[in-house]
Amino acid sequence: MNKIAFIIILTVALCKGQTIKQCKERFNNYLNFKGGLNNIVKFEDNEISICNFKGNKEFTIYAGEINMLADFLEHTPYKQQEELLRLKGTKKYSKRQRDSVWIYIDDRKKIPKGKKKLPLNGYRVAIDPGHFGTNLEDAQIEQKFLYFIKDSVNLPTDTIKLFESELNFNTAQLLQKMLEELGATVFLTRNQNNYTSFNCSFKDWLLLHKNRVLDSLKSVDFLGSERYNKLIKEEPAKFFKDFFRDYDLANRAKKINQFKPHVSVIIHYNVDEKNAPWKKMSDKDYTMAFIGGAFTHDNMERTETKLHFLRMLLTKQLNQSEKLAAQTVLNFNKNLKIDIATQFDAEYLKDNCLITESKGVFARNLLLCRIINSPLVYGEALYQDSYKECSDLMRYDTEKYGIKTSDRLLKTAESYFQALVPFLKGL
Ligand SMILES: [Zn+2]
Repeated sequence: MNKIAFIIILTVALCKGQTIKQCKERFNNYLNFKGGLNNIVKFEDNEISICNFKGNKEFTIYAGEINMLADFLEHTPYKQQEELLRLKGTKKYSKRQRDSVWIYIDDRKKIPKGKKKLPLNGYRVAIDPGHFGTNLEDAQIEQKFLYFIKDSVNLPTDTIKLFESELNFNTAQLLQKMLEELGATVFLTRNQNNYTSFNCSFKDWLLLHKNRVLDSLKSVDFLGSERYNKLIKEEPAKFFKDFFRDYDLANRAKKINQFKPHVSVIIHYNVDEKNAPWKKMSDKDYTMAFIGGAFTHDNMERTETKLHFLRMLLTKQLNQSEKLAAQTVLNFNKNLKIDIATQFDAEYLKDNCLITESKGVFARNLLLCRIINSPLVYGEALYQDSYKECSDLMRYDTEKYGIKTSDRLLKTAESYFQALVPFLKGL
């Protein structure tokens, strides 16, 4: 072999190959929240082990297995992953066993190659417009709305009424059109602004599906009798908090994973937490985005969470998410003219998140950030209750793609779009 060919092969191997060192960096930068996993995840020269709470090794990944497992966790359904975790344990796979795992890998996420009519042909983008309440009854249950008189002294009739679900949905529709124009295939987790991810309103879900769903969860022992009896009688607001919120979120993630996206976008608009219960305007307005990570000791109790942790540890998804989120936040800052949040601007940033090297990007173990199996950005473009924003957000005086919107929502959609296009092209 000549020298040049050897260098080329070595470079390709190094680019593709993930090392224990890279996994350790991801562990430190994104995953190990306040050292909570120090006794659970052990790094050695040639292996990484996940231990149980007694300190015994339960699962070991050897250096030569990292790429195979990373691909497996990125491209297989959850059930298969659970099976592999159980069967492999701390065993070291032979070359033949490693090769046999590749058979299970679905290559639907491979990057489209060759001539394309439009620049994003072949790319799949999932969008989750957060929440569902677009009337006071639903929104009160979700606690995701603003309803107050802007200035009771000088403008007593000037009312602020905003439903976050509506803002998120409107932004998602605009972003969908922008991406489709470039040839991308786009999936939305719900198809009306007042719908849950079950494609009906919360009220209809309670009427049509609640009993059936609880009965079936009880029959497979997912719900014990005591919890079942409690949930079946609960009022909507309590039931939402105790069951439906996470049930709906898990369904959003499930639908997204079935779509096998190259990238996912979760759209939300924030409020100033110190302004609760949001009956007046706030003088603050910050922009930020979340990605996955920040696991605690308790998070590692369940097999499901462990598998999500392993995927984030072994694949490059978190690095990719940081890159995408960083560009999204820079675009929010530039297009919307809003300052980027630091860890000192909200309690949850300081108390629940790991700070990344990118301004305004925080690793946080939110359900969607954990379960969605693709690079992602969870955006919080602005504070809805800011005195600079609330009136403008209500003013739907702009039109794009036949959709009535406000200038703020359009600029937010453009910010996501301008981050997504180069990101996808760079995959
Ligand atoms: Zn939200």
